[in-house]
Amino acid sequence: MSDETSSSHPVISIVAPAYNEEAILPELYRRTCQTLDALDLSWELVLVNDGSTDRSFEIMQELHAQDARVCIVNFSRNFGHQIAITAGADYARGDAVVIIDADLQDPPSLIADMVEQWRQGYEVVYAVRKQRQGETWFKLFTARLFYRLINRITGFQIPLDTGDFRLMDRKVVDTLRRMREYHRFMRGLSVWVGFRQTGVEYVRQERYAGETKYPLSKMLRFALDGITSFSHLPLQLATYLGFIIAGISVLGIIVAIILRVSGSQAFYGQASTLVAVLFLGGIQLISLGIIGEYLGRIYNEVKRRPLYVVRDVIGFEDEKAD
Ligand code: UDP
Ligand code: MG
Repeated sequence: MSDETSSSHPVISIVAPAYNEEAILPELYRRTCQTLDALDLSWELVLVNDGSTDRSFEIMQELHAQDARVCIVNFSRNFGHQIAITAGADYARGDAVVIIDADLQDPPSLIADMVEQWRQGYEVVYAVRKQRQGETWFKLFTARLFYRLINRITGFQIPLDTGDFRLMDRKVVDTLRRMREYHRFMRGLSVWVGFRQTGVEYVRQERYAGETKYPLSKMLRFALDGITSFSHLPLQLATYLGFIIAGISVLGIIVAIILRVSGSQAFYGQASTLVAVLFLGGIQLISLGIIGEYLGRIYNEVKRRPLYVVRDVIGFEDEKAD
């Protein structure tokens, strides 16, 4: 941590990705000011416009005109939430970077507690959802299931019920900047890097306005990215299933021979054959699909395209490229 008053760059960068959040941005700015100004340190608010089709970008520009501490990274199109966070952290100049959802489900007031923990020497301070308000039971159930599943199969502990809302020290951000994988699961990556980590609890609120930008299809893709980024277990599933089914069929052969020799009528007819063939066919297709999931991700990685394309960067004097 550097000296807060003498340094020219801000101490804290708040990074908020926004995709069609015109109704929320002024309130986000207001609440950020409220919390951060009370902390008596320098700060910047990095708004990442993830290809919004509403007036989000205009509103960001108005906020920047009002207050130079608001900086903007404007994408050329929608690249997705995780990529938007990545870009924000790339451009942020603070000694610590706080990732926060623009929709105010993550209360900016919690940043005060995070900064407190950071000053005590923690390098990652993640926010733990003690309670979630205004979410459907379906989202709560699937989220609960997902975090327990991913911890079990990846073998390292992503703290339960955390999202991307977290403070990261400059050291952590610089480490993440060197990790340019395409399918990013940021909440996992920020645990993977290690460092001293701690959590602060909060009640996750309802969206301030607008609708969720995470429909079920995006949530599923996100969950698959999380699992495939940290585990090979699904690939090994075919091997395990292969051994189990081969074992069962050896037993089946023995039973069939015994029944045939003893003159039994069992196992005649096509139904048993058909069921066995379809069952195996299904398992083979699922295994191929799993291989496909990994292969597609490998393909995306080897193309080595930039993670995002930026149209405008506003408010950063020393602009960094991707
Ligand atoms: N978001 C984004 N790009 C996207 C989808 C979402 O930048 O493609 C932003 C969105 O504006 C919000 C944050 O990511 O600030 C979280 O999205 P959302 O609130 O819709 O997700 P939920 O809280 O419902 O999981
Ligand atoms: Mg939200």
